[in-house]
Amino acid sequence: MIKDSLYLYNTANRTKEHFTLPQGIPEVRMYACGPTVYHYAHIGNLRTYLFEDLLRRSLEYFGFKVRHVVNITDVGHLTSDQDDGEDKMEMSAERMGKSVLEIAEFYSAKFKEDLKHLNILPPTVWCKATDHIKDQIELIKKLEEKGYTYRTSDGIYFDSLKFPRYADFARLDIAGLKSGARVNLGEKKFATDFALWKFSPKDRKRAMEWNSPWGVGFPGWHIECSAMSMAHLGETLDIHCGGTDHIRVHHTNEIAQSECATGKQFARFWMHGEFLRENNSEKMSKSSGDFLTLDFLIKKGFDPMAYRLFSLTSHYRNYLNFSWEAMENAQESLNSLRKRTQPFIGIEGGVKNVDAREWSLKFKEYIGDDLNSSAAMGVLNLMLADSALEDSEKAALIKEFDGVLGLRLLEKVEKAKHSVEDVAKVEALIKERDVARENKNFGESDRLRDVLLGLGVIVKDGKDGADWEWK
Ligand code: AMP
Ligand code: ZN
Repeated sequence: MIKDSLYLYNTANRTKEHFTLPQGIPEVRMYACGPTVYHYAHIGNLRTYLFEDLLRRSLEYFGFKVRHVVNITDVGHLTSDQDDGEDKMEMSAERMGKSVLEIAEFYSAKFKEDLKHLNILPPTVWCKATDHIKDQIELIKKLEEKGYTYRTSDGIYFDSLKFPRYADFARLDIAGLKSGARVNLGEKKFATDFALWKFSPKDRKRAMEWNSPWGVGFPGWHIECSAMSMAHLGETLDIHCGGTDHIRVHHTNEIAQSECATGKQFARFWMHGEFLRENNSEKMSKSSGDFLTLDFLIKKGFDPMAYRLFSLTSHYRNYLNFSWEAMENAQESLNSLRKRTQPFIGIEGGVKNVDAREWSLKFKEYIGDDLNSSAAMGVLNLMLADSALEDSEKAALIKEFDGVLGLRLLEKVEKAKHSVEDVAKVEALIKERDVARENKNFGESDRLRDVLLGLGVIVKDGKDGADWEWK
């Protein structure tokens, strides 16, 4: 490894590679797949955005300027990867009795609020699929002209067997797919073909549909990322990232359609964050509707920075297992770390002597080794215990390291309004009240409601027991 350099794991080649920019490219062209705004982001999704924030901060730490683009998917993401099922946005709008636009605005704003809570830097550019319909149509037209598409009764499809490298990225077994049992392909020619443009149903007007050379309809989910990233970053990106679930289908399809359209390499580095799991189950899923949000952690008395610290304790390419016990440990680690860094607030920094520079080099070495955040946090802890350092040097090093870790270590924190213990007390009283209600002891349940009100808690009764919120 070359000293003082950044190495990143490139999914395309399954190796760590030295990251540099090609000659003449002034800034890192980085694209991250953003949320489909049909629901709240869950803390698993947020783990991926935390990884991308760590990546962005690390690139800047290594002296790169970064142009970071994140999309908002507000059309075209169907409930099935097989290009059928319902549009997630339209389904959500129906469920909530709102328009698709209202849904998109509501969940986009909520998502941006989550990022702010987690101290995730806003991207250089936010873009929305519905603002780029023309770019998507143009890209599909290019593919059509080059002979990569075909038409079925429900849309325009990409002919994946015409792209000989289709299977390479995800190491797919095309021969196996060819010889395997035929899944229900409908009019698709091959299992890995995918929709570029879907027609609106004949008997119903969709909430969101556009004219196109092929008929009224809407773009497929994959084409949106190719079109938007090219519109904002050009035909070749330096880094494209997302969660590991995107390797097999979404990113494989993005590569196929982009490289067939332009004849150029689409992204030089592909980086993927591994999943957050809950209780060791396969994954936390937004479509199941049963998941943890950042707001819920906050309601439970946790500081969003404790979740950030929790995610930094494991490498971004490893599974991370969520448990309440792990969250409590992360909150304790954050509290004790803050106790040690807060005395340095307001102290002018300056890294002078050799010892101080050594800490800096060590930290950089770990971050440079494919973003080894847990080892880098170890360096921070050891540095804080180094009695040979002057206060001004420690202050400078905390600031430098926190520029990458983003834990707000040099910001004054107001004491959290509610501690984890307060929440536990409230939940015990809620349970007690649920039992009283089950036993039809309404006098006792009213008394407990008043006790809770005294603690600043509003109780909301529902058919599955009571929910509550802080006043
Ligand atoms: P979505 O809004 O479903 O498109 O997901 C947004 C991002 O979160 C994508 O990059 C996904 O790969 C990622 N993601 C989804 N579920 C998880 C999870 N359980 N842990 C980590 N990342 C996830
Ligand atoms: Zn994408």
